[in-house]
Amino acid sequence: MRIGVLALQGDVREHVASLESLGVETLTVRRPSELAQCDGLVIPGGESTTMIKLARIFELLEPLRERVRAGMPAFGTCAGMILLADRIVDGAEGQETIGGLDITVRRNAFGRQVDSFEGELAVQGLDEPVHGVFIRAPWVEETGPDVEVLASSNGHPVAVRQGHLLATSFHPEVASDARMHGVFVEMVRAQ
Ligand code: GLN
Repeated sequence: MRIGVLALQGDVREHVASLESLGVETLTVRRPSELAQCDGLVIPGGESTTMIKLARIFELLEPLRERVRAGMPAFGTCAGMILLADRIVDGAEGQETIGGLDITVRRNAFGRQVDSFEGELAVQGLDEPVHGVFIRAPWVEETGPDVEVLASSNGHPVAVRQGHLLATSFHPEVASDARMHGVFVEMVRAQ
């Protein structure tokens, strides 16, 4: 089993470290040929507008859409959640996504960079709370019928799962707690 980390922009190293702490083989993904070698893909935090532009330039956007449509497990954190969402509120003009997750996300929902915050979050399926690091984070504004809400903050979903897709508004990769990655690894294993 090999899990890729989309390495166009964002906190790629932190995700690689989290996955490696679980003993998982990882691969950084910049080309379609690298994507083809992955059984699952993590989409990091960073800047969704930049990442989606680079995905187009690197000719990765359609291959990403195809793999997600075909059932490849994917885990997006923060900007990665935005990339997996079917719909964006407050996106840049014409901002595209990979899509697949039947959710509407609101970009920068918790406010600006200075409104970034941390807090303990109860996550469904985990015994102990997760330390959630929110950095210019999105929240989920609407969920489709197949979307399971795993955690909420300020009355809005911040961790969701829909079949093979997992997304969090926060950054488990910077909290030196690999349990969310563990949930994803199990999803990839089960596939
Ligand atoms: N605000 C960023 C965006 O819209 C996401 C921030 C993050 O990933 N920490 O892409």
